[in-house]
Amino acid sequence: MPKVIEHDIIILGTGLAGLRAALQIAMETKGELNIALVSKVQIMRSHSVSAEGGTAAVLRQDEGDSFELHAWDTIKGSDFLADQDAVWKFVKRMPHEILLLDRWGIPWSRRPDGKIAQRPFGGHTFFRTVFAADKTGFFEMQTLYDTLQKYTDRYTRYDEFYATGIVVQDNTFRALVGISMPEGEIYILRGKALIIATGSANRMYGFTTTSISSTGDGMAMAYRLGIPVKDMEFIQFHPSGLIPSGILITEGARGEGGYLINNRGERFMKRYAPKFMELAPRDIVSRSIMTEIEEGRGFEGPYGLDYVLLDLRHLGAEKINRRLPLIRELAIKFAGVDPIEEPIPIRPVSHYSMGGIDVDLDGRTIIEGIWAAGEAACVSVHGANRLGSNSTAECLAWGYFVGKDVARYAKEKELRELPQEVADAEVRKITDMLAKDGPESPYQIKRELNRTMDNKVGVFRDKQNLEEALHTIKELKKRYRNIHVKDKSLTYNTDLMMAFELKNLLDMAEVVTEGALRREESRGAHFRRDFPKRDDENWLKHTLAYYDSEKDEPRFDYKPVRVLYWKPVERKY
Ligand SMILES: Cc1cc2nc3c(=O)[nH]c(=O)nc-3n(C[C@H](O)[C@H](O)[C@H](O)COP(=O)(O)OP(=O)(O)OC[C@H]3O[C@@H](n4cnc5c(N)ncnc54)[C@H](O)[C@@H]3O)c2cc1C
Repeated sequence: MPKVIEHDIIILGTGLAGLRAALQIAMETKGELNIALVSKVQIMRSHSVSAEGGTAAVLRQDEGDSFELHAWDTIKGSDFLADQDAVWKFVKRMPHEILLLDRWGIPWSRRPDGKIAQRPFGGHTFFRTVFAADKTGFFEMQTLYDTLQKYTDRYTRYDEFYATGIVVQDNTFRALVGISMPEGEIYILRGKALIIATGSANRMYGFTTTSISSTGDGMAMAYRLGIPVKDMEFIQFHPSGLIPSGILITEGARGEGGYLINNRGERFMKRYAPKFMELAPRDIVSRSIMTEIEEGRGFEGPYGLDYVLLDLRHLGAEKINRRLPLIRELAIKFAGVDPIEEPIPIRPVSHYSMGGIDVDLDGRTIIEGIWAAGEAACVSVHGANRLGSNSTAECLAWGYFVGKDVARYAKEKELRELPQEVADAEVRKITDMLAKDGPESPYQIKRELNRTMDNKVGVFRDKQNLEEALHTIKELKKRYRNIHVKDKSLTYNTDLMMAFELKNLLDMAEVVTEGALRREESRGAHFRRDFPKRDDENWLKHTLAYYDSEKDEPRFDYKPVRVLYWKPVERKY
């Protein structure tokens, strides 16, 4: 029998977005609201801890920065697909978040005059990225976690709790279902409100910077409930993934002055972005690197991972050790290269989902009582291409907005009834999955999915490759129905967890690929060789993918972009 527990608010995901929301709710109330904090890994293992380079905010109006400039950079970076009211709300909030973290004790890197230091980042026309060396996410998470310790009476932790389903009745949220892995027990967590903060789906790619846990669970659960996912075809490829693991080498390395070099020793970015050079936005730098490699100016790498070089040597040992210690450690341990003495081999790597669960400016979805925040959501601040250091920022900003809105909502509402038959059906999905005994290996299916996404839905796309990828994904979905789950217990059953995750990855990969096939233009991170131009007349619109449960596939619709202050112009850097 599943354990049924009542809470007021359930936060699914304890990365930056989830923790910031939890803190806001705890501070907004005097303990009258009871929060469940749910994570499939231990809190501090959420992917957010690996954020490296920093968090963007306007702090130096006296030195020439402004909200208008941050908003303009973000909108231009987004290739005009961002909703401009969302961007405005975002940039105005960010300075408060930086100063709050400062007050809560984060060790921001400082300037010699004692002020909070900021470094240049791609696509930002002002040095506005706040950082704590190159371990920003780790320190942000630590600070939120620490501050949350003041409110331990207001929340219950469910660490290593794998959520499998959401119970909804009459279009309102009722409960979250999942497995406590250490206990091997199934739980039904009832609540008035749910915040989905489950991060990205980028593990659909094999060569990626994201954690093993970034499998789009929240996005896919929301999608199958009937909530649309938005702009999923826009996957960010970060220019500098370490060869061969794909571990991220932060953009901060270029922000501190690093060069990109081809096999002729040239700083090739002068051909593609003469003004911004290495600090052009990520979509442009990634395409430039891939062009160099395709035209024979790269280096031959292992497993077909040809690469170019990121050269930091001219920065000197002192600066590398002070500003980029993690990068140095990663390059030494995972590539055998000390950046003080040798350039680092890198190539573009799948990094971030610009798309996500469709939400309004307060983070609300179309189902009452369900919000989404962070990388799982799409507000949309980033449009077709996110600027570096705007994501941790978005997580903090919408953690705050959503936390505030949810606290207000939960104070007014009563706990609604739990429809037993719907809850039972969700629980049955776990036992059915556990019983799976077919001939197909989920691990093999995942490998084939990864290979397909890496090879056919990458930096450069075209009709033929996307059609082939979609065909393969549909075949893999069919094979998935006949998988086996070998471990039959419920305690720490990673086999079972992986089976659920794979379903989520397959569904989201299908949406990404079909969305990319339909979008016959090039915008931001979505580049079609067969449609190399941006087409505002036909495609200045958001993609919405709804789940068609009868056909088990997405149905596509579109909605306008809120272009309120700045008209789209050609993007030049
Ligand atoms: C290596 C790396 C470096 C980065 N560096 C930067 C940077 O310097 N600046 C910047 O702005 N951005 C950066 N980003 C992007 C940014 O870090 C992320 O977008 C952001 O941290 C995502 O936070 P989140 O709160 O949305 O989710 P995450 O931190 O990904 O957390 C997701 C949470 O959901 C939980 N969860 C998921 N599924 C389930 C389930 N089924 N059941 C229970 N729990 C579940 C997980 O356990 C986890 O707690 C970086 C990203 C990577 C990968």
